[in-house]
Amino acid sequence: LANKLFHPEDTIIQVDDVKIGGGNKAIIAGPCSIESEEQLLTIAKAVKESGANILRGGAYKPRSSPYSFQGLGEEGLKLLKKAKELTGLPTITEAICLDTIEKVAEYADFIQIGARNMQNFALLKKAGQYNKPVVLKRGLSATMEEWLMSAEYIMAEGNHQVILCERGIRTFETYTRNTLDLSAVPVVKEMSHLPVIVDPSHAAGKWSMVEPLSKAAIAVGADGLMIEVHHEPECALSDGAQSLKPEKFNKLMKKLNAMAL
Ligand code: PEP
Ligand code: MN
Repeated sequence: LANKLFHPEDTIIQVDDVKIGGGNKAIIAGPCSIESEEQLLTIAKAVKESGANILRGGAYKPRSSPYSFQGLGEEGLKLLKKAKELTGLPTITEAICLDTIEKVAEYADFIQIGARNMQNFALLKKAGQYNKPVVLKRGLSATMEEWLMSAEYIMAEGNHQVILCERGIRTFETYTRNTLDLSAVPVVKEMSHLPVIVDPSHAAGKWSMVEPLSKAAIAVGADGLMIEVHHEPECALSDGAQSLKPEKFNKLMKKLNAMAL
């Protein structure tokens, strides 16, 4: 179903008036985790003003340590809905398990499946049962074939609205958090009709690299970006080091627009 051979034209996914694919770009921005009403609304307003068209924010967080902040749960989802009411931006948040995906689908416009869950086949099947677009992140060590097969799990359940997201893979290099595999974009374009976006924040792990990697992603033909933004990155409860301040995000958007985004 994801194969271009049987579906040569690009898939275009639409939520409200935002289209992704076929030349339309998704600019997903927002905090890693939803931390408070003040935090989310401040960031949501800022990214909207800069030109983001989708708001991100995690309510259920798949943290590497069980002692790290795990997210606000349903309270976070309610704040995300409030942020949409205020800004008009469609929203995306991650579903980390079968117990919480129902809530995610109830409150958000896009369901995010995280890198760590790319081969959680029960979760993929469940995501395939909603009439909501799914952003499927590439697993930390997933091949193209494995990634597309995971998309297939969602699509085989009847939900053909899948957006692939390259977010860096595990290599021997440790200077960056992950290694952004830019070639994933043209490879997906060759193999599939599905839109493919790039998350430079989780790939780099460092805010200073978000701008060059974003430009590169657009240059290789990505259908959009997912960028973490925080107004007080030094106090962020997760991923502060890779989060752009709103002013930096604004400058980046101006540069991307100049590249004929
Ligand atoms: C995220 O987007 O907040 C996230 C946890 O990303 P990934 O699944 O790519 O690590
Ligand atoms: Mn994050």
